Amino acid sequence: MVLAGCAVAVTLVASVASTVDELRLQSSPAEELLVDMDAVYPGDRTASQVEPDTRTSAKAKRSRALTSSAARAQCRDSAYALAGWRVKGGLNWYYNPSGAPSAVSRSALAAVRSAAQSMATGQNECRLPGPFKVAQKYGGTTKRTAAVSSASTAACGREDGYSVVSWKRLGSTALAVTCTWWTRSGGVVSSDIVINTRYRWFTTQPSRCASTYDVRSVMTHEWGHTFGLNHVSPARHGTQVMASTIPACSSTRTLGAGDHNAMRKLYGVR
Ligand SMILES: [Zn+2]
Repeated sequence: MVLAGCAVAVTLVASVASTVDELRLQSSPAEELLVDMDAVYPGDRTASQVEPDTRTSAKAKRSRALTSSAARAQCRDSAYALAGWRVKGGLNWYYNPSGAPSAVSRSALAAVRSAAQSMATGQNECRLPGPFKVAQKYGGTTKRTAAVSSASTAACGREDGYSVVSWKRLGSTALAVTCTWWTRSGGVVSSDIVINTRYRWFTTQPSRCASTYDVRSVMTHEWGHTFGLNHVSPARHGTQVMASTIPACSSTRTLGAGDHNAMRKLYGVR
């Protein structure tokens, strides 16, 4: 799948809280704010990777073998790419439950929180160390919405100082879109994520699963963007969270060796 993306530079108008800060700010050039949009697309592998438990034991055994071999492949692949920014001083984020599909309306927040925690702590099945030296904190629900336009080519709106996860039907075929604003010095100002309601979503994979996507896996990927990770090729590095496509009815909730390398490079391990 082709990645749609863009980077647009806009000028940050800094509001000033005190006289001392105002004097200091006036003597330096206006800070430039950069914005980047990342989207993750449905993968073209349609077969369910995890067989339903109700099938024969032979299939169940094969399912477990597939799962552990996927984990081994995930731990062998050290590829990663960095986006050019990092979260400095911790990330506070908010969640807008409005518009969440009824199938996940009660469970999605927990999945979004778990995803943020997995990325920040480096949760993995490869015995790699963690957590990373970066903090993230869920600040509560909000009525604000993520600044992502719903046009067929998704675009980032205006930065408002809040990092928000919200639901919207996008014209884009992306599963989710992340807009991240950062300064020239590489620090994230805020990061907004929209989950696209044109798709069906699960938080616990249904036994008969078709064309339905895992909120937690997609959100772990989107939080990766927020923390400064870029895509790797799904053809060559499909076991990694940061592969740019995710198949239906599959889950990649823990970091691969490459994902972990990227986060360790940016933040180090506590
Ligand atoms: Zn992405």
